[in-house]
Amino acid sequence: MVMAVRAQIELVICDLDNTLYDWVTFFSSAFDAMVNEAIRVLGVPKDQLLDELQDVHRRYHSSEQPFALLDTVSVVAAFPGASRRERLDRLDSAFHAFNSARKATLKPYPGVVETLGAIEATGARIAAHTEATVANAEFRLNKLGLVRYFSRLYAVADAGEGHPAPELLHKSGVGISHVRALMLHERKPDRKILEEICAAEGVEPDRTLYVGDSLVRDISMAKAAGVHSAWAKYGTKYSPEHWNRLVRVTHWTTEDVKRAQEASKLYGHTVPDVVLERSFGELLDHYDFVRPTAP
Ligand SMILES: [Mg+2]
Repeated sequence: MVMAVRAQIELVICDLDNTLYDWVTFFSSAFDAMVNEAIRVLGVPKDQLLDELQDVHRRYHSSEQPFALLDTVSVVAAFPGASRRERLDRLDSAFHAFNSARKATLKPYPGVVETLGAIEATGARIAAHTEATVANAEFRLNKLGLVRYFSRLYAVADAGEGHPAPELLHKSGVGISHVRALMLHERKPDRKILEEICAAEGVEPDRTLYVGDSLVRDISMAKAAGVHSAWAKYGTKYSPEHWNRLVRVTHWTTEDVKRAQEASKLYGHTVPDVVLERSFGELLDHYDFVRPTAP
């Protein structure tokens, strides 16, 4: 009998959203809770506030701007002359609703913590790569207690107006000491991103593994860069209702939608090396994780 040789992995590059936790369900739930409370406070129709939120998202070119609410037409009009910080206080109950829903829905997928710990224990390096902003990615990794497993975070430079009360941030969090903000042109599925990360980490592509939930954006990029690829299929199993809620307020322009459709046509049939059907922990069945040979 011929035993299959398992690939030796020195560097794991891990997508975050819907690979380590269910971002779609969390963000949709928290956003909806916030909007429902805000329309109660403001007395405006839900669809009107959703339209206004979408306008702000488009302005910031990002849909993950929880404080976008402060910059909507209705909120600015409701509290004339109020500073952004004052508007934050007036909408405290809406942000509280967001935070409560986040607490209930933002959790690492089962097995994620144990598996990151097992990989780290082998001496292999783990880097995080996401198209979320640095602030959002750091916040979530801290909140979930995952920050300690990552040697570096590759994320997108922060957009929009930022946090209205920065002194409230990082109260208890430990920051990732090595954060590299990706340039705006560096977007999935550009293989140059992975080539640059491999070069920065000093690990060869054939000793590197990318784990992500998107065939189109994650796995096609890994294939093109010549790194091993594992598809987090479990991360695609959220309810369409949550997804549709996000689409309702997306910052995407018609150009963006067209680009995504083209990418889907080109890469939708990408075949990953490994399919993680039920959990992140299945990685341990397929790869040997080892300490990088280069310093
Ligand atoms: Mg993802």
